[in-house]
Amino acid sequence: MLYIGIFVTQLEVLLESLSLAPIWAATGGLCMSECIFCRVAAGKIPADKIFEGKEVVAFRDINPQAPHHVLIIPRKHIESVNDLGEDDAALVAKMVLAAKEIAAKLGVAQSGYRLVLNTNRAAGQAVPHIHLHLLGGRNFSWPPG
Ligand code: 5GP
Ligand code: ZN
Repeated sequence: MLYIGIFVTQLEVLLESLSLAPIWAATGGLCMSECIFCRVAAGKIPADKIFEGKEVVAFRDINPQAPHHVLIIPRKHIESVNDLGEDDAALVAKMVLAAKEIAAKLGVAQSGYRLVLNTNRAAGQAVPHIHLHLLGGRNFSWPPG
């Protein structure tokens, strides 16, 4: 696995130097090197990870909006809910099931928590790599702001 990782990194560097990164991304995104959450998933940017699966990773939000604020992302680069395909159904289910596990681990499953998928500008999506927010540890109002 180590050798495959080194090969992938070198391939990324080569494609970037040849300005072919978009082609790399279009391959289905083993890693989209300029995407911040792809880089977090790949361990290239430090993050407080609390869950690491084969396809899904979760880490604490850098600017928490609740005592517990976790982002659950797929390793695959998908920009938003709008970009999900039928093939991604199992992946989305894994994100939600990871959220369920994390909520239990953080001790908020019974008290309650909120799962949010901000999509595009009006909803305030700032990072164009799909991420499920898990917020817990306080009461949340409805409707949301
Ligand atoms: P959005 O507004 O796109 O739904 O949420 C993006 C979230 O990502 C924000 O809550 C923001 O604080 C978080 N975020 C942005 N950059 C980083 C980062 O580099 N590391 C971590 N852990 N969280 C980040
Ligand atoms: Zn990405």
